[in-house]
Amino acid sequence: MKSGWENGSRPKRNLANSKANFFFPIPSWPTNKRAWGIFLSLATALAEVVDSDSIVTGFHSLDSPNYPDTSREFVDSMERAINSGTRAGRLGRKISILSPLIGMKKEEIIRFGLELGADYSYSISCYRGEEVPCMRCPACRIRDSAWKSLGIEDHLIKRLKKEGKWHGF
Ligand SMILES: [Zn+2]
Repeated sequence: MKSGWENGSRPKRNLANSKANFFFPIPSWPTNKRAWGIFLSLATALAEVVDSDSIVTGFHSLDSPNYPDTSREFVDSMERAINSGTRAGRLGRKISILSPLIGMKKEEIIRFGLELGADYSYSISCYRGEEVPCMRCPACRIRDSAWKSLGIEDHLIKRLKKEGKWHGF
């Protein structure tokens, strides 16, 4: 099922009047995103097959207030579940879910990545999943705000301008 964000518009469902709005005041509920338990289960299956002892997420501090399945509590619960429900766990080969960004704000993550030499010019955040950001979805707005708070032009936008792909909003 595609979310409303994929065609560049807001979801058709009126979240402002839904029960979901009580828990998630920001209208950013892409219907296909709230499945971290499933994704972590799939990652666990892969970790067992390739004999890995860790799974890494990109959850950060702005995620968990709106999305409980990206919280430290959820990650810890999932880690206990996968280690009690897998052959690897039964054999004492613990699989860890690493979430190194979970306590960091978006601008802290960008700064940290820059210090490590990350190339943000090819990173995308937009819910549409396209190279050129829509600048309307929550992911685009949070990314834009984080770069602005650092006083640095987003390296993705800089590259898109250079390649003639950015026409502003
Ligand atoms: Zn977007």
